[in-house]
Amino acid sequence: MHKLRRVKEIPKKFLTQIVGGKAGDRGVRLTKMLPDIEKRYEVLEDAFTIADIGGVAKDTWTKVQREDLLHCYESTAQALEELKRLIMERQSEGIRDFCPYCGIGAPRQFDHYLPKEKYPELSVHAHNLVPCCGTCNGKKSDIWLDATNNRVFVNFYLDSLPTAPMLKPDVKWVVRKGKRVPTVSFELIRPAGFSVAKFSLIESHFKKLELLSRYKDQSHTEFSLLRDASIAREAKTITTLRKFLQKFLEQREHTLGPLNWRIALYRSLVLDVPFLTECLKP
Ligand SMILES: [Zn+2]
Repeated sequence: MHKLRRVKEIPKKFLTQIVGGKAGDRGVRLTKMLPDIEKRYEVLEDAFTIADIGGVAKDTWTKVQREDLLHCYESTAQALEELKRLIMERQSEGIRDFCPYCGIGAPRQFDHYLPKEKYPELSVHAHNLVPCCGTCNGKKSDIWLDATNNRVFVNFYLDSLPTAPMLKPDVKWVVRKGKRVPTVSFELIRPAGFSVAKFSLIESHFKKLELLSRYKDQSHTEFSLLRDASIAREAKTITTLRKFLQKFLEQREHTLGPLNWRIALYRSLVLDVPFLTECLKP
């Protein structure tokens, strides 16, 4: 997981362009609704300023208005495509290739942090669009508050994240079909000094997106990747291999950040003698 940068342009700019591109009755209706939508934009932007987006109340729209508002996102308007492109380009190179919710896959979709089913007027608000992978988008669906109105997912535009690692992998070696293979489980641990309240949001995020088991499932790919990288380097001893992997780890951490699950896994593997021994096998 990693923080996201908000686009520099003001969100209203995209709204005006998207609404301006609508033809016929829908265009007339949306143009009439613009002042009301803009008021709602201000509500969200004010909530962002005080980091209290969980308190943004729903508004009431008629059925037709809802359809018009949702159509703003469903269309292939050039202004919407441009907004999506700007959101992606605003993120750091290297990290923009990963979903911020999980850090596993590529962000080929956009999640509406405040679900568009509940907040149709925010369907094209730049700060409500989060690039993400299909798995996270599907699991998040239209959920965002729990029964007591607390947010359940981290907002990567807004929420504080720890600066120290918070994932602890446990690598174990088991024999399967006569072959020794590594299996890994992950534990989420609150870094010292990071507030319990803020961490409970991260815990809820992990639980809802089933991140610990998804990382476990993905780990075998990382074993192969590191092993292949080691073979490519032709390291002959554990010391030289460890040096090489350490450098690889540092380069990856520079891009992915200390909270990334791959970085947590690599840190463990660099110290795991059975893994290093395995990598040295021809
Ligand atoms: Zn994801």
